[in-house]
Amino acid sequence: MSCIFCKIVDKQIPSTPVYEDELVYAFADINPKAPVHILVVPREHIGSLHDAAKDEHALLGHLLWVAAEIARQKNLANGYRVVANTGNDGGQTVDHLHLHLLGGRQLTWPPG
Ligand code: 5GP
Ligand code: ZN
Repeated sequence: MSCIFCKIVDKQIPSTPVYEDELVYAFADINPKAPVHILVVPREHIGSLHDAAKDEHALLGHLLWVAAEIARQKNLANGYRVVANTGNDGGQTVDHLHLHLLGGRQLTWPPG
């Protein structure tokens, strides 16, 4: 198993946990781009949003709910952004599906 996020989920690589349940693990991004920058990943290896199957739609919804729940816990009432970089053009660098939760500052649009 060479996937870095699978190793983080399995605690073979240390991370700073933020939330976990039977389906999802969320942890602090090692290179934060905002005061709050958390990654929400499924425990199961799914390469990207592009690879998610129809029977995984409930898991996809759960990932979004977890991002919103963390935002509530972090008091991001002023707003935040949830991003799923997907594939090469999308800027995805780790091939294990993940949501970025970014907040704590004014974010610009459009992204680069
Ligand atoms: P992507 O570019 O694929 O959308 O996002 C990958 C994210 O994973 C990046 O923001 C990067 O900082 C983060 N990342 C990469 N390796 C590690 C690691 O070993 N630990 C943690 N906590 N984050 C990582
Ligand atoms: Zn993986």
